[in-house]
Amino acid sequence: MSMQEKLIETYLIDGVKFPFCKGCGHTHSVRYLDKALTLLQRHPSKVNLVSDIGCIGLVDALFSDIHTVHTTHGRSTAFATGIELADSILYDSDLKTIVILGDGGATIGLLHIVQAALLNVDITVIVCNNYLYGMTGGQHSSFTPFEMVTTTTPSGSIVPPMDVCKVAESCEGGFIARVLATDKNLHEILAQAIEYPGFAMVEILEMCPEYGLKYGGVDGKKLKEIVDRENKELGVLVHRKDREEFSSLYKKSIDKNSFDAILKKSDKTIQQEFTSSLEKEIGVVIAGTAGERVQLSSYILLQAAIGSGLHATQKNDNPVTQGSGFSLSEVIISPRDIYYTGIEIPQYVVITSADGLREITANGLLSGCSDETFLLVDSSLHLENVKGKIVHVPLRQTFGPDRAAVGGIGIFIWASGIIPRESFEREIKIKFPKEAEKIIGSVYQLTNQIIFSENA
Ligand code: SF4
Ligand SMILES: [Mg+2]
Repeated sequence: MSMQEKLIETYLIDGVKFPFCKGCGHTHSVRYLDKALTLLQRHPSKVNLVSDIGCIGLVDALFSDIHTVHTTHGRSTAFATGIELADSILYDSDLKTIVILGDGGATIGLLHIVQAALLNVDITVIVCNNYLYGMTGGQHSSFTPFEMVTTTTPSGSIVPPMDVCKVAESCEGGFIARVLATDKNLHEILAQAIEYPGFAMVEILEMCPEYGLKYGGVDGKKLKEIVDRENKELGVLVHRKDREEFSSLYKKSIDKNSFDAILKKSDKTIQQEFTSSLEKEIGVVIAGTAGERVQLSSYILLQAAIGSGLHATQKNDNPVTQGSGFSLSEVIISPRDIYYTGIEIPQYVVITSADGLREITANGLLSGCSDETFLLVDSSLHLENVKGKIVHVPLRQTFGPDRAAVGGIGIFIWASGIIPRESFEREIKIKFPKEAEKIIGSVYQLTNQIIFSENA
């Protein structure tokens, strides 16, 4: 940091209000995490906080500017591992990824912690251990101490607790610490963990006044008693210097030329060659049949939009069977950042098959159409009581079932004029080099017919 740069005093949002119950250990842990970050003075763009499900999962909204990713229960460490490997192997951008989860998340996702420790991947896992599942009603977890009363162990737990620090140590984790949420040097230990080049884990022993205190009598004094009774040590337990962090080891282990070739192949950066005059965000729904390239075609729309200088997101849906039933994409295109990837009122809808029509009828997207919605529908389909301007086009007959979606998207782009048609043509030539001319020709013909019928 240069002398001119201002010190960051907090990474928390202005006037932060902690959502946890009064006296909850999570408040301490989050405050000390913030203190650790201010000690390190990392640029916010170089900090990534990955949260789990549970009360502690509310942490995302408390921080400003740093990256945050809220994940599914127990999987936060797996997400963090993937983010870190992508960042350091593909980009080498020095992002520090921090996982924060409860003992419930750590119980459910233990194997992810095990694997991250074995790899010695450069992430920091903060386990906020209050000995039970707080958010769901105070049930015991694998961390619940022997004889502790919880809502599911009314006579006291009859099984011994897991020692997550020992588990991580046995998996060769590089930095492991156990602390109390009330420890005055907690921020220093967290800072050491975050800066450690490899897998680091800090188990913070916490109180949950709502359940741990009410049922198990776990207050600040009892926290320490539990540690003593279980013969556990506090402080930094492991600090290894003999293990190399995974991404640098990985880079050394593979041939440089093949690595560069992999990088080149995986570079999916979309170059902007075109410009669009789109002024407001629009939502486009593309609905068809699985196996008919609906999602690939929607991806072409997304690429064409980004290639025209716009922001775009794509959300896909299909049944677990993958190759049968419906296939659906929701593409949002905007001149500004997009913060929510779902569509409630679609501005444009392309329906290529009965499967797609059934699905968007069932999930409410079709009834969400307004009078301004433009619907491009295969000629074989009949729509009843749907708001909007409906245009029937022989998509399946003209393009064939597995090109109907891409044809529909082409017509949508040409007819709506929201992005330059050249951007679509560029992507079509890349994805369907042999058929590009034919697809573009048919799109041109059908679009003219639509315009003609509208004017008629
Ligand atoms: S239920 Fe327990 S863990 Fe959750 S916020 Fe309240 S005190 Fe904290
Ligand atoms: Mg818990």
